[in-house]
Amino acid sequence: MSTNAAFTARRAAAIPAGLSKHLDVYIEKAENAELWDVEGKRYIDFAAGIAVNNTGHRHPKVVERVRNQLDKVTHTSFQTTPYIDYVAVCEKLNDLVPGDFPKKTFLVSTGAEAIENAAKIARAATGRSAFVAFSGAFHGRTLMAMTLTGKTAPYKAGFGPLVPDVFHLPFPIPYHGISEQESLTALDRFFRSEVDPTRVAGIFVEPVQGEGGFYPAPVTFLRTLREICDKHGILLIADEIQTGFARTGKMFAMEHAGVAADIVTMAKGLGGGFPIAAVTGRADIMDKIPMGGVGSTFAGNPLSCAASLAVMEIIEDEKLIDRANEVGSRLKAVFEDWQEGNEFACIGDVRGLGAMVAIEFVRDRETRQPWPELVKAITHTAAEKGLLLLSCGVHGNVVRVLTPLTIPFEHLDEGVAILKDSLRAA
Ligand code: PLP
Repeated sequence: MSTNAAFTARRAAAIPAGLSKHLDVYIEKAENAELWDVEGKRYIDFAAGIAVNNTGHRHPKVVERVRNQLDKVTHTSFQTTPYIDYVAVCEKLNDLVPGDFPKKTFLVSTGAEAIENAAKIARAATGRSAFVAFSGAFHGRTLMAMTLTGKTAPYKAGFGPLVPDVFHLPFPIPYHGISEQESLTALDRFFRSEVDPTRVAGIFVEPVQGEGGFYPAPVTFLRTLREICDKHGILLIADEIQTGFARTGKMFAMEHAGVAADIVTMAKGLGGGFPIAAVTGRADIMDKIPMGGVGSTFAGNPLSCAASLAVMEIIEDEKLIDRANEVGSRLKAVFEDWQEGNEFACIGDVRGLGAMVAIEFVRDRETRQPWPELVKAITHTAAEKGLLLLSCGVHGNVVRVLTPLTIPFEHLDEGVAILKDSLRAA
């Protein structure tokens, strides 16, 4: 039995099957955009730990800073015994997050936790209870985050009752026949006839739906959301957990629309591989948090803060915002070429923003019927050939590419060649 297969047997005995299993590949080592499994097999990384390793695996500056921190202090719990790097990360985020107004930030450990806290803060600051989120959205797996998530199976099925007073409205996806105008009309109808807007604390929106299928929100849609929120005293909450930290070719994806949210949730790319998440908001809103109302034991752990400070320096020093645009344009150009040619009639759509690029696979282009089985076969074949890829989409029929932004072009091209071979073989 191979080592990978033996580990899968151990895994099956020790870990619940419901924890989604992607591949029988157990990683032992990683560097920038390459990984090696326990059998010494090499992979090109088109997954970046689900949009975490924007600065690559084990970036030397991240390693150095975390190593130095290891020699000093690894944990005290900020709320009882503070340390300055936590404050430094928050100062940096207050500067970087869009919005020409005073901001405040606090740290947590995961994306879902950031979402839970954003919802709590919105309720505390507005005195209102209801939330609007969008169909196809993904905000995490804790109770409120799961409730805000648009898709039922597998995220919500069997886990009810969910949080009351959360409403889902259609997200604009022209490829699937939902125009921006239809989404806005639905929102207007909702506020006129279903829920009084003065009961709504916040609207949660991903500027690019990530897990839902890599659908960028039209910039005019985001601007209109901002106007609606301003009109009714609703807080606009941007979930930048997957889109943040240069991934979309801006530091934050909302910058593409020139829209500043009232609260922004961040995680993934913030820690360069270390668990850290953040909630940044307008200072007047954040100051409404009652004493002791947010926080957690591990939040803003010193090692994660050290990593995060390195990540923000690397993004600037290595111009990773520009790099994201270069990586994204290179991928998009190739994928659009495949889409236009005759060979891959299964490619329904190519889309994305910056270095968040996706290919949607369909049984035929007329009906646009999703083809998730093909995507499963592609990701498995790609892994066999040495490329790690992720799928996404409400139907699981989208291949998404999330490389480290630091990926050398020779590795990017090598990955693209494996992907093409995998499309041919699947
Ligand atoms: N929000 C978005 C947009 C995400 O993409 C994710 C994770 O994929 C989450 C929230 C949840 O983050 P976490 O898995 O760290 O809880």
